[in-house]
Amino acid sequence: MRALVKHHSGPGLKFDADRPKPIPGARDVLIRVTKVGICGTDRHIWEWDEWAAGRIPVGIVTGHEFVGVIEAVGSAVTNYAPGVRVSAEGHVTAGKDFNSRTGNAHIASDTRIIGIDRDGCFAEYVVVPEENVWPVHPSIPDRVAAVLDPLGNAVHTVMAAGVSAKSVLVTGTGIIGLMSITVAKAAGASRIFATDLDPRRRALAKKLGATEVFDPRESAWIDEVRRACRGEGVDVLLEMSGASAAMEQGFGALRNGGVAALLGLFGRPLTFDFNRHVIFKGCTVLGINGRKMFETWYQMEELLLSGRLELEEIVTHEFPLEEFERAHETMISGEGIKVVMAVG
Ligand code: ZN
Repeated sequence: MRALVKHHSGPGLKFDADRPKPIPGARDVLIRVTKVGICGTDRHIWEWDEWAAGRIPVGIVTGHEFVGVIEAVGSAVTNYAPGVRVSAEGHVTAGKDFNSRTGNAHIASDTRIIGIDRDGCFAEYVVVPEENVWPVHPSIPDRVAAVLDPLGNAVHTVMAAGVSAKSVLVTGTGIIGLMSITVAKAAGASRIFATDLDPRRRALAKKLGATEVFDPRESAWIDEVRRACRGEGVDVLLEMSGASAAMEQGFGALRNGGVAALLGLFGRPLTFDFNRHVIFKGCTVLGINGRKMFETWYQMEELLLSGRLELEEIVTHEFPLEEFERAHETMISGEGIKVVMAVG
């Protein structure tokens, strides 16, 4: 089969036209991949930064966001049959640890992620356990179904924080930050403020439903947001940037007793004023990882079926798998926001 392989300890991926087709185990499903999404994680793997070098096994097929059609099922699979259009939760666990057994499999200690720890979906075929399969509603187009993974991150963050009838600040409008704006709006946020360095992304944030957008380098914006929120600050902070300055500013704009949900990953440990921003403020801080299995997926489907999510403008580019270099460059340069590749 055709596949993109992390072929060496260095930047880039290699197109392999002759990768052996994976063989599903008894409880696995073999999926013929239709479309895939390129994630920020794939950028780390492409650029081969410190994180990727320490985590990604050389020789792996990368990619974890996809939609496809079931081609074959293992002998013990009972819920699925060939022909069903599906995506999948990429976090594979044995289901045996404390968190898996108490409804929190998304933070299981034995999680292995497709395209990171085991072969992924930048290929004609991918194998996942039956429990990870998510059947895609027929009304959801492939272009959207290919990016349910990051959309699920946004839904998880917004739902964990609770935004209904609340003012929300989104710091960082990358892919998931932008998605979180349309999700927060659909979930009933009263007003949404957003910050980003990139003027094009700020403009898109506004289009997707942000009440007001700010360049975080203009220092007056925090006071402006606080003034707009009874002089006290926003009810909810969704931190999507992984920038230490955004942490400082975001918490500066959060009201006492507010909720902060943190999804952005920081490049290095940061110095942060916990006394001022968390303890005396009496706020709640939530770390967000992955998607709840499968509560987030059900919520995401409901939000998609409501027709209130605007995702068309977030998925900006599509390339065939063979043009993976152009696809990655379009994403890395910032020219594209969400870039999708067509496989099948
Ligand atoms: Zn992803």
